[in-house]
Amino acid sequence: MRNVICGRCVKCGREYEAVPDLTNCACGGILDIVYDYDYIRSVLTKEKLAKRTNRTMWRYRELLPVEETTPDTPLRVGWSPLYEEPRLAEKLGLKRLWVKDDGQNPTASLKDRASAMAVAKAQEAGARTIACSSTGNAASSLAGNAAAAGLKTYIFVPDRAPKGKVAQLMMFGANVISVKGNYEETFKMSAQAIEKYGWYNRNAAINPYLSEGKKTVALEIAEQLNWEMPDYLAISVGDGCTIAGVWKGLKDLYAIGFIDRLPRLISAQSTGCYPINRAIQTGQDWEPMAENTIADSISVGVPRNADKALAAIRESNGLAICVTDEEIMAAAQLLGRTCGVFGEPAGVTGTAAVKRAAELGLIGREDTVVSVVTGNGLKDVANAIKAAGEPLHIEPDLIKMVSGFAERGVKVM
Ligand SMILES: *Cc1c(COP(=O)(O)O)cnc(C)c1O
Ligand SMILES: [Zn+2]
Repeated sequence: MRNVICGRCVKCGREYEAVPDLTNCACGGILDIVYDYDYIRSVLTKEKLAKRTNRTMWRYRELLPVEETTPDTPLRVGWSPLYEEPRLAEKLGLKRLWVKDDGQNPTASLKDRASAMAVAKAQEAGARTIACSSTGNAASSLAGNAAAAGLKTYIFVPDRAPKGKVAQLMMFGANVISVKGNYEETFKMSAQAIEKYGWYNRNAAINPYLSEGKKTVALEIAEQLNWEMPDYLAISVGDGCTIAGVWKGLKDLYAIGFIDRLPRLISAQSTGCYPINRAIQTGQDWEPMAENTIADSISVGVPRNADKALAAIRESNGLAICVTDEEIMAAAQLLGRTCGVFGEPAGVTGTAAVKRAAELGLIGREDTVVSVVTGNGLKDVANAIKAAGEPLHIEPDLIKMVSGFAERGVKVM
């Protein structure tokens, strides 16, 4: 890889050759992929990029840690729409607001970006089997992207994972282990099995390439905004790999001179589980927390990538905003009804945090904001129906329809 220098430990600074099956540092720290920005500047320009017809995450190859000969993964991952939402901006009291709908990825979450990277790296490593543990979306995205590439998967999920996500796993032909335990226990079991059987490891905070895949969401936002950065970028946080990846992507673009300022990150978590945000708020180290929120994808009491996430939020002078499950479900309805965007609970937590930050006066009339919706609402229909309610149940009779709606305060006309 001409564009990559090494993997460097974020804790002790030790450097490693960037082999395809790179994992954590001997000291336990997570590695960061270090690029040769001079080289990248010499081979990539905005004009060159603008001419590219490849509308997937692989359009940013020069900024990604893959060999030039590694093929693009088969599914169309990335290049999700970025919608400007003037009516929602108005409602929230913001100058301008954009929603990036990453639920439109092939398996319906932002995790496809990391899983496509995992598949590419597993192929470079010559592996035939990939494994991971996940609260759901990492798993379903790995199962889908691996199936498309002809690779086998073993997937460990905690038994609270929503049915929609488990259905995806089964449909994609994964070997699924539903663990009677929490995410922490699930993660440990997957680590033991990976060690024992030598499978390629798609656990996000172990494999340093995965946040490089996730960073493509930030590269796209920048390109879609014609390289003009918003004041804030809001995203939900579980393990912390996504927000760390977003920050990495932004810093890459800054380093090669494609953008001239960096947005402040808004780290969105639930009041039912917010170890990362608590660390930001108190200025202390993070501590484990109970996992108690409907936003299952970010219900992570022991975040695996806290170091990188905290560094990203702090470096960006970011905001740590917690929202209740009620605010999350309200945000899901607001996005649905104002924007036509249907997000799962963790998917809309970023937008809920934007709303709360605006109500608190932390952001406002002068500010421009991008909110990333990280997962599609069809993954968790039970919570969607709980939040949005039931339709009118009646006999086939127009009079009953009119009176039924009248009871709900709706005049049919
Ligand atoms: C995984 C996930 C997140 C959070 O990403 P982390 O890397 O765990 O912080 C947010 N939203 C959705 C829908 C996810 O699947
Ligand atoms: Zn180290």
